[in-house]
Formats: sequence, C-alpha cells, structure tokens
Amino acid sequence: MNGNSGGCQCGAVRYHFEGPLGRASICHCRMCQKAFGSFGAPLVSVPVANFTWTRGHPGIFRSSAPVARGFCRDCGTPLFMQDDGDPNIELAIGSLDDPNAVKLESQVGVESKVAWFDSMPGLSAETTDQNNPAARDLYHTRQHPDHDTEHWP
Ligand SMILES: [Zn+2]
Ligand SMILES: [Zn+2]
Repeated sequence: MNGNSGGCQCGAVRYHFEGPLGRASICHCRMCQKAFGSFGAPLVSVPVANFTWTRGHPGIFRSSAPVARGFCRDCGTPLFMQDDGDPNIELAIGSLDDPNAVKLESQVGVESKVAWFDSMPGLSAETTDQNNPAARDLYHTRQHPDHDTEHWP
C-alpha cells in the first residue's frame, strides 16, 4: 500500500512496513539537527517486526554508542534512527511516500530548539510555482516517485 512505503530521494533505498504508524514527534536535539541538516528531526515509530528494506540498504552512522542513524549512501537522505534493542525503528517522516499519513504528537529535545522554530507559521508563504516558475521542469526530474517501482535506474 502506498502509505506504508517510503525511501530516499534517489530511490536506491526503499522500505515497506505493515500495520499502522506509531508515535510521531519532532526531536529538536542537536544530534538530530546535525543528522538531518535541519531544525531537527520529524520521526515516526514503526515496529521493526513489521518493517523491511525492499530496495538497497542504508548506510549507518552511530551518532552515539547505542544509537544508529541510517541514510542513503548515494543521495544522503536521512532515513531512520534506532536505539539498540528498541523494538521500534524511528523513520524520518519526510522519507515516507505519504508524510501526511502521520499525526505529530509531541516535541522532544526542546532544550536545543532553534530560536526561529516558533516563528515559522508566521513566515511569508509561496507555492513553488510562485517562488520559481521554472522549478517544475528543472527540479523534479530525478527524484524517485512517491510509490514503489518495479525498476528504477
Ligand atoms: Zn538515495
Ligand atoms: Zn534527537
């Protein structure tokens, strides 16, 4: 099913899971900021028992002794984090084929929250077409589509 799959931007790494998504949160900790190159990490929990890599395998960086972080070696997309022994894997919400399937419940690591995070809802907002009319043709050509594919270059 479409909502139960995801993967990296280039399509070299894809995953699938059965059953519902678990707890979803934004982690603001400094490690998640670095790992995602962003304000933090939107993550959603899925039982490892229901989860499988369906194409390729992620690279792993152990950001601390008991924590593995997975990413695509080819395109750099952050894909997951997992504590050793945790029966759940924490998926990067943006890597899901349907990020809107997630319901965020909480924020953690807020001691490191960037000062501008809470100002985001008030920022000016444009669609991609408004911001850069050429983007539709230029920017979407190499990204894996938001569904599983039989073959992908
Ligand atoms: Zn990739
Ligand atoms: Zn974190």
